[in-house]
Amino acid sequence: MADTTLNWESFESKCAACKACGLCEGRTNIVIYRGARSAPLMIIGEAPGESEDLQGKPFVGRSGMLLQNLLASYGFTDNDYHICNICKCRPPANRRPTPEEIKACKVLLADQFRLVKPKVILLCGSTAYEGFFGTKPVMKDVRGVFIERKGYQIMTTYHPAYALRNPANKVPIYDDMGKVRDKLTELGLMPPL
Ligand code: SF4
Repeated sequence: MADTTLNWESFESKCAACKACGLCEGRTNIVIYRGARSAPLMIIGEAPGESEDLQGKPFVGRSGMLLQNLLASYGFTDNDYHICNICKCRPPANRRPTPEEIKACKVLLADQFRLVKPKVILLCGSTAYEGFFGTKPVMKDVRGVFIERKGYQIMTTYHPAYALRNPANKVPIYDDMGKVRDKLTELGLMPPL
């Protein structure tokens, strides 16, 4: 049954106290979001890395800078997006979160969706896709295409870390962000560029 007392304060307290999986043992800070509390676009990555864990914010390392540049190039402001991860605590040695850890953290992510009320979702990387849809993707097949599910327009793209390994990989991520920007305009949620 839906929690009718849900608000940002209660949600953040619940996150801060969460010990639903073993990742709680290694965290310096819980990493919940950055950007707007309510936004038309929700961007979901994998899990916090070292910088994110230290600062308590997602996508603040080198991948985050790349993402931020992409958002700026399409005219996004902080009010237009909400950035978070499938898991809110840093996995040891930056390993991928396990299916059990993702499942445990999805309970919190479901609350987060209810608070943010996005219309468009951008999944960054295969772990975000797997966490959201429950199946492993073939990234080259699923990226860059919108799927409509439960009233959300969902796009998958590569994780920005992928572009850090090879600058040529920025091109598909840039193209996908452009499609997301166009979709938000088409839905009347952002002005044309
Ligand atoms: S990763 Fe998610 S489920 Fe696991 S302890 Fe952290 S907040 Fe809780």
